[in-house]
Amino acid sequence: MTLRNKIVIVTGGNRGIGRAISLAFAQEGAKVIIAARNETKAREVMDDIKKQGSECLFVRTDVSQSEEIHNLVKATLDEFKRIDILVSNAGIISIAPVVDLQEKEWDKIMEVNAKGVFLCCRAVAKQMIKQKSGKIINVSSRLGKVGVPRYAHYCASKAAVMVFSQTLALELAPYGINVNSVAPGIIETDMQRWEWEWDRKVRGMSLEELKDEALATIPLRRMGTPEDVARVVVFLASADADYLTGQSINVTGGMEFR
Ligand code: NDP
Repeated sequence: MTLRNKIVIVTGGNRGIGRAISLAFAQEGAKVIIAARNETKAREVMDDIKKQGSECLFVRTDVSQSEEIHNLVKATLDEFKRIDILVSNAGIISIAPVVDLQEKEWDKIMEVNAKGVFLCCRAVAKQMIKQKSGKIINVSSRLGKVGVPRYAHYCASKAAVMVFSQTLALELAPYGINVNSVAPGIIETDMQRWEWEWDRKVRGMSLEELKDEALATIPLRRMGTPEDVARVVVFLASADADYLTGQSINVTGGMEFR
């Protein structure tokens, strides 16, 4: 248990990649605060965490709302007195070519994916500066590194997460705080399944054809699992990654080099 008694906030820790991250931290002995909107899903993860004998807390949070982030930090400090690790994982996606993309859709993606990361990092960094320690891991995407048709708004939001994380790494380095991001590739979650469903309807391909098409782009020839990402996040939060900051780690089965 490399993270025994560490206090970790995981945004979107109730489903998909975030769920795997919450469980992986609990397995390492950390106390997990799940910050998300869907309480039913969060309770299911909390039951699993409690079965492992670890502590956890759910704080209903919309990451795009600064008052809710303020409440998240306050609730965490009231209960646990400190924050050792923040994982900004919450995110959303939508698909549209730029010429059809509505302003509202652009704003929504930016509000959650980019502004949400900023708000969480700003609030938690203030506490970590007081503690003179901490680890922040922001979940970006391979699509933050490459443009992909119909994903311009999502790509832009994830590129924002990456460069924001680099900047924050420089600002927080003097306080002994590490900031890194991860860039997952194709990970089978509700989000990915929703994308395939969209493709299935619009491009008229079967799910099997879409999966084969995706697999052909992955050098390791398998989809990523939420646990593949969770293991890298736990590493970045551990003392083994003390000399890593400002980095963006690809978790793509070899799809990306930069
Ligand atoms: P899911 O759709 O399965 O889960 C999304 C998570 O984000 C949920 O926990 C959801 O919580 C939370 N969330 C969304 N909006 C908000 C909000 N406004 N406030 C709080 N929580 C919110 O997605 P994944 O698990 O696949 O994705 C997790 C992260 O990984 C995202 O940032 C995504 O962009 C990124 N990613 C995913 C990839 C993939 O292939 N799956 C590839 C690359 C990056 P709730 O249930 O409460 O809504």
